[in-house]
Amino acid sequence: MKTPTQTNAIDFDTAKLQRLGFGQPFPPPRRPTTVAQLRQQLGLQLQTSLEPERILSVFFREIQRLVPLDALHYRHDAADLRLEFGQRGHHSVSYSLSHEGEHLGELIFRRNQRLSEEELGQLESLLATLLYPMRNALLYRAATRNALRDPLTQTGNRIAMDQTLQREIDMARRHLNPLSLLMLDIDHFKHINDTYGHAAGDNVLREVAAVIKAQLRNVDMVFRFGGEEFLVLLSNTSREAAAVVGERLRKATLAQDYWADGKRIELTVSLGCSTLLAAESAESLLRRADNALYVAKREGRNRLAMAG
Ligand code: GH3
Ligand code: MG
Ligand code: MG
Repeated sequence: MKTPTQTNAIDFDTAKLQRLGFGQPFPPPRRPTTVAQLRQQLGLQLQTSLEPERILSVFFREIQRLVPLDALHYRHDAADLRLEFGQRGHHSVSYSLSHEGEHLGELIFRRNQRLSEEELGQLESLLATLLYPMRNALLYRAATRNALRDPLTQTGNRIAMDQTLQREIDMARRHLNPLSLLMLDIDHFKHINDTYGHAAGDNVLREVAAVIKAQLRNVDMVFRFGGEEFLVLLSNTSREAAAVVGERLRKATLAQDYWADGKRIELTVSLGCSTLLAAESAESLLRRADNALYVAKREGRNRLAMAG
């Protein structure tokens, strides 16, 4: 019989993992420490990462050597960041983190049992170790996000689009899910620029982007593809479902009021839609959406055309 051999092999691995300190339901109890020791250790440990999630998870784990907790919540609205560690607790105490007048987010410690004055003092002392690591992590996050975003419309830029498109194609293949793409182009946009000026044109671009984003569940999938062209990636969306989304975008951009020089601007958009074929490349998927867009333009604009 084969089974005993397999069992032995597994036992061997488990024994080895346990010798190395893995595979146990709980980590072995760590030696208690003082606030000063923990502060020093955290000072070194927290500066090894630029990821807010990693920094806070290490912080949450390590401070419990002194102050056991049930949960740690973090939020920074301006950075669009919310993180939660652990479960809920009845009692909570919150701290606003700031460094030289710069807001670094809000931290909430939760525990079922009330925190003593001594414990609060310890937590407050340990919080100081978060300031520099969190400031650096937030700066790094803002820099990487800005590098992937179009500043005028706050949609993804071409770099973001290339990365996301390839990732979505790989995912669609792996999970055998459909993937569709909409290419949207403002009709006669040059006329708006020529009539009302470039600044008015910029405002219209911003508004069209906002209307598109308001219609979609995942705003991270909207990209500025060219001057007055946007690309929308629709993951797990069939050709039929993508046609419905495309029509919705066309109607929503049409219904919006756009103003320049106190006058209402009439605006329409044209769209091309393609759905990923077996073994198709990103370039080919984009080209087919672009060809469909060209058909929509040729057939009179203010319409959606589906790639063949
Ligand atoms: P069509 O219906 O065929 O798409 O006509 P169109 O006028 O929209 O297309 P065309 O490609 O001829 O012109 C696009 C214009 O978009 C030309 C360019 O000056 C303008 N444009 C590109 N980028 C920007 C931008 O960032 N801001 C502004 N205001 N205009 C831009
Ligand atoms: Mg164009
Ligand atoms: Mg155009």
